[in-house]
Amino acid sequence: DSEIVFVGRSNVGKSTLMRAFTGHDFTTGQKPGVTRSPNHYDWAGQDFVFTDLPGFGFMEGVDEDARETIKTDIVRYIEDHSEEIRAGVLVVDGKAAVDIIDRHESRGEIPHDVEMFGFLREVGIPTVVAVNKMDKVDDRDERLDALCDRLGLPGPWQQWRDTIAPISAKRDQLDPLREALAEHLREQNRDDL
Ligand code: GDP
Repeated sequence: DSEIVFVGRSNVGKSTLMRAFTGHDFTTGQKPGVTRSPNHYDWAGQDFVFTDLPGFGFMEGVDEDARETIKTDIVRYIEDHSEEIRAGVLVVDGKAAVDIIDRHESRGEIPHDVEMFGFLREVGIPTVVAVNKMDKVDDRDERLDALCDRLGLPGPWQQWRDTIAPISAKRDQLDPLREALAEHLREQNRDDL
């Protein structure tokens, strides 16, 4: 099976995005920490499993230990399935991501998004950062350049269109993500020849 995994902090709009992307209802508000890969999707002419990995980071009513367990489970899932996983989508909130990253860094912590991005690349999974909620962002280029900087990608962001996909799941503006993913899959198909 070919699989595409979706990861992200809770509340970034991952369920909304997956619903818009697949037409399948990845119902929100379920118990935290549950992985769902409910269906196969014909996408870009191929059969894919889209896996919704649990939201990580701060969640109302979920304590520190439980949050750590969720993150460990996500990492383990990805390691165990790395052969099938053809691409990863790290969903972030375009309006909040940079500030959250900076807040963690100023406390001497590794920000979740930075850690997850690094991990996916380390495991060799081509990863697209779906920068969601761009409908709320005014200073688009500055925000995206800052995000690239925090992720260790030398800017400007336009040089990373296969990695940085500014989208709005709510408005169904997903083309940058579709194109970035398609590019990675095309590349892999070329490599297979
Ligand atoms: P999840 O926890 O990552 O699955 O997040 P949800 O899909 O449940 O969305 C969290 C909140 O963000 C909801 O109130 C959504 O309506 C909102 N949201 C999701 N996508 C967008 C977007 O593109 N723009 C805006 N403005 N809000 C969004």
